[in-house]
Amino acid sequence: MGDKKVRVRYAPSPTGYLHIGGARSALFNFLYAKKYNGDFVFRIEDTDIERNIPGAEESQLHDLIWLGIIPDESTENPNPKYGPYRQTEKLDIYKKYAQKLVDMGVAYECYCTEEELAEMKEDQLANGVKSFKYNRHCLNLTEEEKEKYRKEGRKPTIRIKMMENHEFKFHDLVRGDVKFNSNDIGDFVIMKSNGIPTYNFAVVIDDHLMEITHVLRGEEHLSNTPKQLQIYEYFGWEPPQFGHMTIIVNSNGKKLSKRDHDILQFMSQYKNLGYVPEAIFNFLFLLGWTSDDNKEIFTKEEAIKAFDPSRLSSSPSMFDNKRLLWTNQYYIKHMDNEKYFEFIMPFVKKANIPETLSDDELKNISLIFKNEIEIGQNITDMLNDIFVRKTELGEEEAMIVNSNSAKIVIPAFKKKLEELTLINQDTVKSIFKEVQKETGFKGKDLYMPIRIKLTGSMHGIEMFNIIDILGKEETLSRLI
Ligand code: GLU
Repeated sequence: MGDKKVRVRYAPSPTGYLHIGGARSALFNFLYAKKYNGDFVFRIEDTDIERNIPGAEESQLHDLIWLGIIPDESTENPNPKYGPYRQTEKLDIYKKYAQKLVDMGVAYECYCTEEELAEMKEDQLANGVKSFKYNRHCLNLTEEEKEKYRKEGRKPTIRIKMMENHEFKFHDLVRGDVKFNSNDIGDFVIMKSNGIPTYNFAVVIDDHLMEITHVLRGEEHLSNTPKQLQIYEYFGWEPPQFGHMTIIVNSNGKKLSKRDHDILQFMSQYKNLGYVPEAIFNFLFLLGWTSDDNKEIFTKEEAIKAFDPSRLSSSPSMFDNKRLLWTNQYYIKHMDNEKYFEFIMPFVKKANIPETLSDDELKNISLIFKNEIEIGQNITDMLNDIFVRKTELGEEEAMIVNSNSAKIVIPAFKKKLEELTLINQDTVKSIFKEVQKETGFKGKDLYMPIRIKLTGSMHGIEMFNIIDILGKEETLSRLI
């Protein structure tokens, strides 16, 4: 690893909000930095201007911070030595470096139009060429030819001239030794005709100037790496060490895609639904890394300590929703009560609850659910099930409340409840027992009519808890 300070980065394009895959890349870079006392840098690759969306940069950064993946340097916390941290703010720098390559004779102006390139591609495909390579039409243009194009109003791009038959070899942190031959790669554009660099060029300049030592990124970038290595090679710069993380797949083994409706894609969705940041951190950590003793719960500190890049998994990681919910539930269950109240009260207050309930009463109610819920939103839904009465019953529910047993059980229970002075789980349990003895009905026949009368539903939390939460008066009013 040499004695250079470890510097890694997460470099999203602000074309979307923080995505689960992006968060995983960021997490592993962060762990790498923290494991080796390095710096984790957050910077923005915003050269694809038409695709940038408002709010995306903030979401990318703030959602990371929410997850506990805190950058040492970022767009909001720049180190003047390495800035700017947004590519669009350093266009003159890219221009200067592109010109250097032109002056060295390893990059050249290309005046081909989109239409000409499309035609070139079609011809190549028609001739059985599998992947398109620029035919170097503009490689040796004379000054006069260039002038003629300029007069036609054409604006040039700058293309890199790939070396002939050169092998790009590198040791990937995840996949081991990887090789590419330069002959398989066409001369690609490094500067667009509007003066904006392409990703493959800008990323090299940024990584070099920011002294990035390691790059962990998604496997979709593997084929970009030889292009980037070509640029390093021309400048005589030492490239960072690369690691390409495997894809995330859904339970059918298919690459996670925006169409997977049962998997939430964006961190903000997790936040809004009451996932715990530490739980997601833990889950993402195990999504691409295997612990040797099947340990499942890791704090941030434990993850940093345990992390070892050589154990990054080289097979696709399966996104297991059940495991995520289990992990989230674990973190909720193990919160101390103060932290739990802070986490849960916004979800309690989102429910349709009577205004008369004080914060202390709400906190007590929330404790009933602490071991039940998987995510914060569950408590909102469960409280709504209790407080918002369903006016229309389903067919089965209607049948149960009109059954013969209901006609006996409900009035008997109501009478006992009216006489009860102290309402809590134990006293309610004991009057259910008395009703059972008195009427001879038990189990579903006993509980279901009352449950449906109270909430309109056959499911939900323990009925003793429901009655405790509703209170005597409200319960009685629903038993009519
Ligand atoms: N902006 C690129 C992306 O969002 C970053 C690629 C890289 O890490 O080099 O995929």
